[in-house]
Amino acid sequence: MPEEMVAARAPEMASRGAQQVDVAVVGAGFAGLYLLHRLRKAGFTAIALDSANDVGGTWYWNRYPGARCDIQTIDYSYTFDPELESAWTWSEKYATQPEILRYLGFVADRYDLRHDIRFGTKVTAATWDETADRWLLTTDNGAPVSCRHYIMATGCLSAPKAPEIDGVKDFKGEVYFTGRWPHEEVKLAGKRVAVIGTGSSGIQSIPLIAEQAAHLTVFQRTASFALPAHNGPSPADRVTLLEQDRAAYREQARWSLVGVPWPQQTDVSWQLSDAERRERFEKAWAAGDLAYILTQLWADQGVDIDGNALVAELVREKIRGIVKDPETAAALSPHDHPFGAKRPCLDTNYYATYNRPNVTLVNLRQEPIKAITASGIVTDKRSVDVDVIVFATGFDAMTGAIMAVHPITGRAGKSLSSAWAQGPQTYLGLTVAGFPNLFMITGPGSPSVLSNMAVSIEQHADWVVDRLAAMREAGFTTIDATETAQAAWAQHMADCSMMTLHRLANTWYTGANVPGKAQGVMPYTGGLGPYRSICNEVVSRGMLGFKLTGPNVPEQVNDGEVVRLQPDVRLVLGMLAEMNLPPIESLGAQGARDFVNEFNKGRPAGRPVGEVGAGMLQGADGPLPYRLYRPATPGPHPIVVYFHGGGWVLGDELSDDPFCRDMCRRTGMIFVSVGYRHAPEHRFPAAAEDGYAATRWIAEHAADLGGKPGPVLVAGWSAGANIATVTCQLARDRGGPQIAGQLLVCPVTDCRFDRQSYTDNAVGYFLTRALMFWFWDIYCSPADRTDPRASPLRGQLAGLPPAFVVTCEFDPLRDEGVAYAEALAAAGVPVRQLQAGGHFHSSFVMVDVVITGVSGRLQMAEALQRFAGLQVTPPHAIAAE
Ligand SMILES: Cc1cc2nc3c(=O)[nH]c(=O)nc-3n(C[C@H](O)[C@H](O)[C@H](O)COP(=O)(O)OP(=O)(O)OC[C@H]3O[C@@H](n4cnc5c(N)ncnc54)[C@H](O)[C@@H]3O)c2cc1C
Repeated sequence: MPEEMVAARAPEMASRGAQQVDVAVVGAGFAGLYLLHRLRKAGFTAIALDSANDVGGTWYWNRYPGARCDIQTIDYSYTFDPELESAWTWSEKYATQPEILRYLGFVADRYDLRHDIRFGTKVTAATWDETADRWLLTTDNGAPVSCRHYIMATGCLSAPKAPEIDGVKDFKGEVYFTGRWPHEEVKLAGKRVAVIGTGSSGIQSIPLIAEQAAHLTVFQRTASFALPAHNGPSPADRVTLLEQDRAAYREQARWSLVGVPWPQQTDVSWQLSDAERRERFEKAWAAGDLAYILTQLWADQGVDIDGNALVAELVREKIRGIVKDPETAAALSPHDHPFGAKRPCLDTNYYATYNRPNVTLVNLRQEPIKAITASGIVTDKRSVDVDVIVFATGFDAMTGAIMAVHPITGRAGKSLSSAWAQGPQTYLGLTVAGFPNLFMITGPGSPSVLSNMAVSIEQHADWVVDRLAAMREAGFTTIDATETAQAAWAQHMADCSMMTLHRLANTWYTGANVPGKAQGVMPYTGGLGPYRSICNEVVSRGMLGFKLTGPNVPEQVNDGEVVRLQPDVRLVLGMLAEMNLPPIESLGAQGARDFVNEFNKGRPAGRPVGEVGAGMLQGADGPLPYRLYRPATPGPHPIVVYFHGGGWVLGDELSDDPFCRDMCRRTGMIFVSVGYRHAPEHRFPAAAEDGYAATRWIAEHAADLGGKPGPVLVAGWSAGANIATVTCQLARDRGGPQIAGQLLVCPVTDCRFDRQSYTDNAVGYFLTRALMFWFWDIYCSPADRTDPRASPLRGQLAGLPPAFVVTCEFDPLRDEGVAYAEALAAAGVPVRQLQAGGHFHSSFVMVDVVITGVSGRLQMAEALQRFAGLQVTPPHAIAAE
């Protein structure tokens, strides 16, 4: 038989004698147990395999002293069966490992799961059999398994990381790994113990080891933020909340960002006084709750480096207050990552332990470990003899256990290790293109370790089992993600990671703790609730991004990208859709103005700038109000004349306040926002002529305004950008003032409605085609619309100041903005464009709401600085201001 035929028939031959099931689940932890229960109920034949000798997963292996959960146990529980919930009561706020293990055993018994679990059986390799459309799993113990579907419930934190230190094998004393702690009692009393690693396991075990050991030496490479757990009974208020309405409590958790039902915090740090911030922090410190301190202090703590630095410093102050030796306190204080970018730990007496006379901290940043010898540990500066070494060095997280099944061979003989050579690629963190019928529970690309895993696990298991049942119903036997969907998910992951500070830390979330591992933020940072809604959307849109096949049914390929919007834009639009607002154009001009004013009251306050002033300037036909934003840096500063958005009908000099503040801070320039006249009271060309007159007045009064005399700059958003560029044309034609550059954000440039973006984005993105019709009707009669003062694209463009033109993908105005930029370039005007993917018309002015708009505003600020001949400010300098 030719070799290819032998290879092709290998799975078939190997599968003879294999255990045949519909679904094989690898892992019998939180995920594997629930899957088995659900699969059975759905009528599938299923088994689970686990290398452990009992159920429990994480809680089977991690038996080190002090091992506990760090999400309150009332939240870190199954929620699928209310009867199970009433049958079990947790004894503590954060249960110990033995109690959680008992709970998982109780669950296994209650649903009679053990007899379908093969314990002590490691799955060593997996091969997709293209002819049979089945997976063949090889094991190290007993028959292989042939299954239609292969679900890896192998755990995110189940592959302990091997120590990377020379000489471990030479050490003659006892060696323990927190992630593989012996079942028998470990006696440490009277012994000299070393703990290497100060992540969560180290921080939980160190205080208890210190109580027993004659001397404990802790070797720390990276300091972690830790806060006191204040363990005890579950807090009465949380229990009451849960018991009052269990279903609602659980549902809130499912749709929350981290899987614990806390409301979304909306106050931003700069709105609070020092005293108010401290009060909030003290309350969080006293609460001893990770989910609380990570979400409830102020809205910008997890997304903005300044807001985060405030928390980080308060924690460091606590460390200094507890640890008596200043040098030890300094070493224990993290400075190399934002608070929360690496999972903070919950502790019991951790920092105070360093005040004990029998505890020494060795800072490996100053004296790295050179080797482990027969008698102990040698650093650059000292040699420490010990009887016991405890490695609390963490895990090869998220991908370690998946990649340990090697090879996993999918379609056309492709292995997962080659598919993931540059880092994990998944669709939804659940599936991998080219590996049909393979599912991962809490895989890379899903919220997993950034959430309460119990909630994430239930969501994943439910989604997978429901899909398998639906496929069976429809006659499909295989499911495979498409490459397009997978690539789009990678883009969405990258977009999400721009919203948080995780990308700024080298952690196990990014693979940085494992030498040679591809780097990148592995968990989904967009939040559990949004993630759940995306998974649901994939289903409601006909299994978008999947190819389904079956022997007797036509193939179904629904290729596409489930999320094309930026993650925060998706949230904003979702919230707006839920509000079921009437169309703005149905409110009448005054009604629409009232609505916008009301709407603006709910947005985060703009950031502080050096000074905010107000005054009156001379418009085309009388005085106009203005608002002036001055930077905190010493002047005189160049002046940017700013025109707000609102379709020439809505808004005023205050309505883009957060945007003006933000740009003032980023550019180091004065922003003067002009209250130009509006239609219908003052129709075309009032707004355009006011824009020009105001710019002239501001240029003439630059010194009085504290600005730099000489050329000014103009900027505007939407209809305001229309006025800004019309001003440039008028200034060129009417002999000044001199304008050094123009920033046009989503400009209205032409009165035509037939460009593609008017069709693509006609509805659903807040600014609608109908609303633009209405704005134009109110502002300008059809006869006037081709006047370049209304449609600047129709004017002469040569000789205009350099421009930076910003357009947004999901904006009806997109294509006329692009057309304008191209026409400027064709006319010889220096122009740069930002075509912002995934953004909508309001993205860049929704400061501190659409966080992904920051990088765009950074580019706008750079453009303005270049126009003004200033040095471009590096981003971190703004934080320091
Ligand atoms: C010390 C510690 C504390 C934690 N505390 C919390 C917390 O408070 N809140 C929270 O949300 N999360 C916490 N976690 C994360 C925790 O891992 C999850 O909450 C949850 O237990 C994961 O369940 P799982 O079933 O997905 O995986 P696991 O519990 O890791 O189970 C996976 C199982 O798969 C088995 N397995 C893997 N590969 C193979 C193979 N090839 N063949 C056979 N068997 C295999 C393993 O032996 C293991 O038993 C903690 C983790 C640790 C380590």
